[in-house]
Amino acid sequence: MQEESPVKVIDGRKLSDLLLEEMTQEVQERMQEGYPQPGLAVVLVGEDPASTIYVRNKIRCAEKAGLFSLVKRLDASCSQQTLDDVVVELNEREDIHGILVQLPLPKHLSEERIINLIDPTKDVDGFHPVNVGLLSSGQAKLVPCTPLGCMEMLKREMGDLTGKHAVVIGRSNIVGKPMANLLLQANCTVSIVHSKTIDAAALCRQADILVAAVGVAELVDKSWVKPGAVVIDVGINATEVDGKRKLVGDVNFADVADKCRAITPVPGGVGPMTIACLIKNTLTAAKQHDI
Ligand code: NAD
Repeated sequence: MQEESPVKVIDGRKLSDLLLEEMTQEVQERMQEGYPQPGLAVVLVGEDPASTIYVRNKIRCAEKAGLFSLVKRLDASCSQQTLDDVVVELNEREDIHGILVQLPLPKHLSEERIINLIDPTKDVDGFHPVNVGLLSSGQAKLVPCTPLGCMEMLKREMGDLTGKHAVVIGRSNIVGKPMANLLLQANCTVSIVHSKTIDAAALCRQADILVAAVGVAELVDKSWVKPGAVVIDVGINATEVDGKRKLVGDVNFADVADKCRAITPVPGGVGPMTIACLIKNTLTAAKQHDI
């Protein structure tokens, strides 16, 4: 008989399915009450294979949840003006409540300009400076999807996070910084570790909650982890094992798993939750128009 593992693997697919079911129901109920169908528009520039897969998954999830959705595809060589015009048109459309421009953009296009151009009330990625400011000042409306998904997993796993020491590895605008802000608002004591931190492992060993958002395959081994910590692995890194392509996280799962209380796998952890939270944000954006 197999021994029961004391480690809990947090199943992001199961949890995201649950969230999607809850939201599907909410969308149906709202429409029965006469509210308009929430609409999501995704803008895809070029044909980067990873971006194409991400967009397909996002649209599939949106449709599953009963949202109206559309994809605006632009050629990789399109001008900044063409992209700007598409965003402005989507800003004005009443049937579109959420707009997402899939990043990264081709090098000749400005991501900053596009992020700033999206109507903040439709900014379902939560990257617009208005939404960044609202999050930092404790008035969050639209929060970046990946950290939002991580918080959902942490709250369902640990309940009240008050007083926990959380260490976030990474300080990007997309994951690290908003993650740290959300943890702070959940009353955690928060440390941020980054590429210039001296002895990152020593700081991480103090963490009750460790969130890795680095982009370095299996950087975090058990020498970085406090016994009983909850570990959230945001990283998605493509590697090759025996000639086969394999996705791994920023955490060495096999090395760390039996040291922690709970851990997210890669794939099947944070990734599916990110998409579920995009749907959540579209619903939040649509509700802003409720009277
Ligand atoms: P990024 O490159 O913008 O930021 C990486 C951060 O890691 C930087 O702040 C840097 O200072 C820090 N860093 C780099 N090397 C370090 C080291 N040795 N020690 C400590 N810190 C170090 O990346 P990002 O956009 O924040 O993404 C991070 C990872 O998360 C990537 O693997 C990305 O693919 C993944 N990601 C996953 C999802 C998802 O849905 N699961 C969403 C977004 C990003």
